[in-house]
Amino acid sequence: MARYTGPKCRYCRAERTKLFLKGERCHSGKCPMNDLKSAGLPGKDPRARSKKPTDYGLQLREKQKLKRTYCMLEKQFKLTFDEAARVPGKTGENLIMLLECRLDNVVYRLHFASSRSESAQLINHGHIQVNGKRVTIPSYRLKPGDVVSVGPRGQKMISIKENLKEYSKSGVCQWLTLDADAMKGTFVAVPRRSEVTELEKINEQLIVELYSR
Ligand code: SF4
Repeated sequence: MARYTGPKCRYCRAERTKLFLKGERCHSGKCPMNDLKSAGLPGKDPRARSKKPTDYGLQLREKQKLKRTYCMLEKQFKLTFDEAARVPGKTGENLIMLLECRLDNVVYRLHFASSRSESAQLINHGHIQVNGKRVTIPSYRLKPGDVVSVGPRGQKMISIKENLKEYSKSGVCQWLTLDADAMKGTFVAVPRRSEVTELEKINEQLIVELYSR
């Protein structure tokens, strides 16, 4: 599966916000976005984005922010959007719900990985099981009631143990449950838009407008 392998902090600088793409570093003093003033825009032109953004510019930035948060490439993201548009209800809200059902997102939210890209790697390497069966597709769509667990080889991995120790203290999202000792969690329900507080600053309507052009 194709994925972006370039510098991730560049994305945060471009969007002028923390996207939490690098795990532990994002929570440490080493994050360049801790000082917004010194974290300039990527590229060398100091005049970049000095002008008032156009409607298109605002819509594009919002889409890039959401796409990059979930570590997706354009083609995958657009396919998810098209699916969200076919489902009854508000397209923008459907889009976020579909993104939240992705296996790589849930593995990250259960703290088995410190970032969504690390989570995708764990899945690709066969360390994650859904309902007791190994799944190697990061975009695998979970259904309410599905149990996500770390496989036998993954149970011995120090990185997963450390992630659980470090991040599980803060608990998990209300639509998930976690048994940290058993390295197992349940996707209890598809979250409502209002429950996904990490994305409270995202205006998904701008993304709908962008793709409706
Ligand atoms: Fe880099 Fe993480 Fe900070 Fe973003 S939040 S700038 S990915 S360290």
